[in-house]
Amino acid sequence: MSDTERERLIAALKREPDEDSAEVIRARLRELIPATIEVRDVCTGEFAVVVAAPHVSFDGWTEYFCNRIAPALQSGSVIAKNFRDDDGHDVPVSIGRHIHVNRPTESRERGGEEFETELAQRVCDDYVRALRESGGRSQLDLLIEVHGHHRHAQIEIATTGISDFEARKIRDMYLMKCADAELPQLLIEPLDKLYYTAESAKRKGSLRSDVTRRALHIEIPKPWRKDAVRRAGLCGALCDVLKQYVARLKSGVIF
Ligand SMILES: [Zn+2]
Repeated sequence: MSDTERERLIAALKREPDEDSAEVIRARLRELIPATIEVRDVCTGEFAVVVAAPHVSFDGWTEYFCNRIAPALQSGSVIAKNFRDDDGHDVPVSIGRHIHVNRPTESRERGGEEFETELAQRVCDDYVRALRESGGRSQLDLLIEVHGHHRHAQIEIATTGISDFEARKIRDMYLMKCADAELPQLLIEPLDKLYYTAESAKRKGSLRSDVTRRALHIEIPKPWRKDAVRRAGLCGALCDVLKQYVARLKSGVIF
């Protein structure tokens, strides 16, 4: 790839050319900045766990979390990159891709209404296939999906296949971490009412029950992704909590 060409095209797009020229530039940038789905690690154990970040570059720093949580759990990992690439730290202008990956929808613009398309369905199918390959089986025992939001200061975990009791255990383990360090407040289903409920992924995408028996869909607030010290502190805490959680699930101690 030519970085010079990429920089030159991004600079040209920033100068707001007419729409026809802009689309030619965007099309070339889409070639230069490919959208990819990559199985980074495969889970080899009896218990199929996968950590995935489906919105890398758009949800800034989620690859960082995925790259640390997956080894801590010895899980599989999947990274999907550049499908929603406007305003990410990699692509500073929109190049016209708004595909949601973990559900079969896309939008016409950032934050726009979502609609199902053949392309979006194909991408979602590829992503689900990558999750299954990474987990080493067609139905995972646990999918942990890492996302980023900037709506408020709390972590939200939308869940499937998790009881009140189990969610309370996860929250208690996290609260133990909060006693030692400054961490964001945690909201978790089914105990709490969330803004990011991941309904569409639960019904039609990666959180479907035929893909995974349980899911934790983790939305991390922006201040805890952007700031290096906070990011490292939160990531360490999540690694510890999730490690304890997975160990308990494997041994059948709780739940
Ligand atoms: Zn996301």
